[in-house]
Amino acid sequence: MSLIFRCPECQEYVKVSATLAGLHAHCPSCNVSVPVPDHDMPPDAETATHLWAKKKWEAIASQTAPSATAAPPLLAWLLAGAFVLVMGAIVFVAFALR
Ligand SMILES: [Zn+2]
Repeated sequence: MSLIFRCPECQEYVKVSATLAGLHAHCPSCNVSVPVPDHDMPPDAETATHLWAKKKWEAIASQTAPSATAAPPLLAWLLAGAFVLVMGAIVFVAFALR
C-alpha cells in the first residue's frame, strides 16, 4: 500500500509507503521534507474519477436491507395496476350507461 501526493515545494508526484501517512517524507525530486497526507491526493483527472467511482461503489455497497428496497417497486406496480383497473371500470360504466 502506498500513497501518492504532490510535493508542495516542487509540485512533483511523490509516492511513499502508507506507513508514512500523517508524517513527513523527503521528496526525491527537491529533497525537501514535506508532510505526507493521510490519503491519496488524486494526481490527475483519471485517478480522481477512479477514486470518485470507488467511493460511490462503496456507498452503494454499504446500503443494506435489499428486501426493503425491493418491496416498494412491487407495491407501486400493484397500485398502478389497481388504478388502471378502476379507471377502466369507470370508463366502461360511463360509456355503458349512456
Ligand atoms: Zn519536491
